[in-house]
Amino acid sequence: MSEIIKDENCLFCKIIEGSIPSTKVYEDDTMLAFRDINPVAPVHILMLPKNHIASANDITDENSSVISHIFVTASKIAKKLGISEDGYRIVNNCGENGGQTVKHLHFHLIGGKKLSIDMG
Ligand code: AMP
Ligand code: ZN
Repeated sequence: MSEIIKDENCLFCKIIEGSIPSTKVYEDDTMLAFRDINPVAPVHILMLPKNHIASANDITDENSSVISHIFVTASKIAKKLGISEDGYRIVNNCGENGGQTVKHLHFHLIGGKKLSIDMG
């Protein structure tokens, strides 16, 4: 497998390399999924590419195959964690107005309760 693209100042790159601990629920060569440290619902997982992509603004034709892989894996994680039947939400926050606090592209997988419908 090719070398992972890292940003040395990035919290999630440090979680990917293992220098900061996380509670992993899924890992393969190109993506990682772990439990959010501050969950907003009984199930709150963060799913991210191992390569450092700063935000949704930085998805390109060259790096985008991991995005479909993350979504295929999301449904498998949801099934494994027992929330696929009742449903869940997948969210990406992009940039300042989107509320992105960690500048490494990630998708929140949230479920395990009836979620608020407020999207904005
Ligand atoms: P966002 O606001 O979309 O950028 O989401 C960042 C998420 O990362 C938040 O939900 C935080 O609770 C979560 N988070 C921050 N630090 C950690 C950490 N060390 N381990 C797990 N989740 C974290
Ligand atoms: Zn990163």
